[in-house]
Amino acid sequence: MATTLFIGLGRMGAPMAALHAKTFTTAVFDLSNEATAQVVEEGGAIPVTDLSSLPAGIDTVILMLPSSRQVEDTLTGDNGLLRSLSEGTLIIDMGSSEPTSTQDLARQAQELGVDYVDAPVSGGVPKARTGELSILVGGTDEAVAKARPHLEVMGTTIIHVGNEGAGDAAKAINNLVSATNIAVACEALTMADDFGIEPTKMAEVLNSATGRSQASELKVTKYILPQNFTSGFAYDLMLKDMTIAMGLAHSLETPVTDVAFDKLNTGRADLGDTPDHTEISRLYGLDR
Ligand code: NAD
Repeated sequence: MATTLFIGLGRMGAPMAALHAKTFTTAVFDLSNEATAQVVEEGGAIPVTDLSSLPAGIDTVILMLPSSRQVEDTLTGDNGLLRSLSEGTLIIDMGSSEPTSTQDLARQAQELGVDYVDAPVSGGVPKARTGELSILVGGTDEAVAKARPHLEVMGTTIIHVGNEGAGDAAKAINNLVSATNIAVACEALTMADDFGIEPTKMAEVLNSATGRSQASELKVTKYILPQNFTSGFAYDLMLKDMTIAMGLAHSLETPVTDVAFDKLNTGRADLGDTPDHTEISRLYGLDR
């Protein structure tokens, strides 16, 4: 039976794999046996405990891993999966990976007759749960057409951005804008506070005027002002995305994002072990 192997069942991967399993026969694997067991229980997926003994009939592999390092390791490291896949298999990397690593892996896959698509997502854990992610896709028309039915069960907006790596580049650039917007919204709330305007009042102003953004509408009101920092997107993953985007920008003038990146990168040392990305606000003293 045609089976999809879904690897990486963290905050995003677990709800995405559970949705995928409702439509496609899906085998699931994570380094954490607990994470695997949870998706099997909730989503009716087939558990895989060792990538060297896979169920028969794998024709699609979906990856939702932290970074390109884990993707490279899984596909081309010692006992890498790539060489054990049949010709015609499709790999869809849905994590936010590095465009140059993706291009390299796609080339190696294509040499073995395996299709490769990068399809990073935007929308966070809430939209991963409801299957309403925005998915930014890189790859050939043929490979993207093969990937589309899988993507459609997880996302409502699917944008074919360009060739392999283009989805990843677009995602990194988007997240650089998103993080910069959070930083500027926090800066605005601090400024207002210094003048004697309550941050909640200033947030109300931003959200009803031209200063509003997804950062002010969602992140400020839902996670930053209540200081629960429960967005589910780790600060370190945000910094990873910003670093990828800054790497793409080396030949351009990018003074605004340069300053935001420097502030957030330097400020990382002042936050705890595993901060949420909305803890940017703590760098601005908004948690006092
Ligand atoms: P996470 O840290 O919650 O989950 C990662 C999972 O991968 C963990 O369960 C971990 O055990 C597993 N893992 C790590 N290495 C592995 C390996 N070699 N083999 C198998 N499993 C392995 O991360 P997340 O928040 O789910 O993010 C996943 C990807 O999605 C990242 O690239 C991130 O940048 C991107 N992303 C996250 C969000 C968000 O809101 N959290 C939103 C959009 C995109």
